[in-house]
Amino acid sequence: MQAPSVGGVRLPKGGGETIRLPRGSSLTDFAEKINANPASLVQVLFHLGEMITATASVSDEILELLGQEMNYNIQVVSPEEEDRALLESFDIDFGDPGDEDALAARPPVVTIMGHVDHGKTRLLDTIRKTNVREGEAGGITQHIGAYQVETEVDGNEREITFIDTPGHEAFTAMRARGAKATDIAVIVVAADDGVMPQTVESINHAQAADLPIVVAVNKIDVEGANPQKVRQQLTEYNLVAEEYGGETMFVDISARQGTNIEQLLEAIVLTADASLDLRANPDMDAQGVTIEGHLDRGRGPVATVLVQRGTLRVGDSVVAGDASGRVRRMIDELGNDVEEALPSRPVQVIGLTSVPGAGDTFLVVDEDRVARQIADRRRARERNAELASRRKRVSLEDLDAALKETNTLNLIIKGDNSGTVEALEDALMKLDVGEDVELRVIHRGVGGITEGDINLAIADNVIVMGFNVRAEGKATELANREGVEIRYYSVIYQAIEEIEQALKGMLKPEYEEVELGRAEVREVFKSSKFGTIAGCLVMGGEIRRNARARLMRDSTVIHENLPVSSLRRFKDDVVEVREGYECGLTLGSYSDIKVGDVIETFEMREKPRA
Ligand code: GDP
Repeated sequence: MQAPSVGGVRLPKGGGETIRLPRGSSLTDFAEKINANPASLVQVLFHLGEMITATASVSDEILELLGQEMNYNIQVVSPEEEDRALLESFDIDFGDPGDEDALAARPPVVTIMGHVDHGKTRLLDTIRKTNVREGEAGGITQHIGAYQVETEVDGNEREITFIDTPGHEAFTAMRARGAKATDIAVIVVAADDGVMPQTVESINHAQAADLPIVVAVNKIDVEGANPQKVRQQLTEYNLVAEEYGGETMFVDISARQGTNIEQLLEAIVLTADASLDLRANPDMDAQGVTIEGHLDRGRGPVATVLVQRGTLRVGDSVVAGDASGRVRRMIDELGNDVEEALPSRPVQVIGLTSVPGAGDTFLVVDEDRVARQIADRRRARERNAELASRRKRVSLEDLDAALKETNTLNLIIKGDNSGTVEALEDALMKLDVGEDVELRVIHRGVGGITEGDINLAIADNVIVMGFNVRAEGKATELANREGVEIRYYSVIYQAIEEIEQALKGMLKPEYEEVELGRAEVREVFKSSKFGTIAGCLVMGGEIRRNARARLMRDSTVIHENLPVSSLRRFKDDVVEVREGYECGLTLGSYSDIKVGDVIETFEMREKPRA
């Protein structure tokens, strides 16, 4: 059988085999897998309307298109799958709980969610303050992103870990990356306000993640508070209180006055015991999830991690996302140095060489070298994927769409901690500027703006945003040289406002027609030099040279959009002729002009955006 050809190029033809390629692969990577010459693939793509070099990363769509063309079944491997394979190549099985016999009970990890102003922050504060761990003076003083408290349930001391960033944004961001940090959701509902949109959203998020829910009915101290109404409203969302025969524990609290906080903690423990089997193996290399990270002036990168399995110890070699290093110090929420952290324990880790993102997994490996290699590979992969996503696919079918110019504003967001970066990205993505423009965050990260960031930005329309961070080293110089725009912010809403303005500026201008004048044709002359000349009387407004004109006859439009190409009063060329005066004009080479016709002139003016 003859090999298929596109535009005369002979294709290496497959027999429908499946080829697995990591996202962001290049044509050379592809060619290697099928034993072909990369140049032939470049040519094939060229004939499909793509100009791509052999070593550049290409998008999923192009890989798949090429696969179809050549009869290969291309599977683009997701970053998660790829990461699993990467870890496997180091003999690491992330998420493997280890021996059933080695499992020991661990505390539940709780996220507090609910509508804005219903008291999430206050509740986290109150729990933090009232529950001082035994033997500790001073209580929890540090905000490290999570903390652990103790409570007595049925005569036993039990621990609970709270994620200390309220709201479902952080929770969703982590879940989006496949990180399951939370075991139980506490939904806070203010008794004086009842179920609100974000209450419902929080419930949806929690239920989608299969989390048992405890409801804290807050602000019962407020006059007019109606905790029973909250119970009744929530039945609609399948949260039926125990006292009504359901399975959900409701606790009436006042975060402000510290009422029933112990009862809430007890309800959390009881709910965990009833619906979850929370056990983890403490005798293995630690694995878990990063809750937040930031760059500390004195201490360098600082990350709060939640240990999910194993025990994390000072001196361990760790890799968290694309950051690696060795645990130099661990600090808990009381500000104390700790030597080891068991499952469900959050600790601040110092000793990483860069800042991991919220939701990044972390794990302990045998040697620094392995940690470094994994981090390097992840960083390279991320960069490839970013490069690939920047390239737009232009195939023959899509040519039309591609020709219609798309307006995209690309952003790189750098900030002082991962929570802010995520919050900013989230808020920006929610900006509504219509369908004509698109906002894309092509890279985000914690720390100063680096030369790497600028290099990534050297393409059209990339704005680098620095939130509480500055450009480092030669980055400013490079940005100036390459014309990359860097904007600095320290207030989120200001950042959002400016980007919104920028997006509006990119909207293609809208024009509206403004009528300038009307003239009636009184005589028509034919001139061998000028063509058809209309002798007119200006009836209203003014007639200007170079204005657009419309020719009307008996109130019907005969021709739209003719140019007033010459305009004269007697023998003189003029720029404009006002109402009540006579003039001679030509409408380009248009000749079908009759006495009695009306010429309307207008211009298109840009309409200001709302
Ligand atoms: P968040 O947006 O859910 O984090 O809400 P906050 O914790 O910031 O609380 C919003 C407002 O409600 C603040 O002014 C709190 O002081 C107040 N608040 C929180 N809990 C209570 C409470 O139990 N009783 C009363 N009266 N006010 C409360």
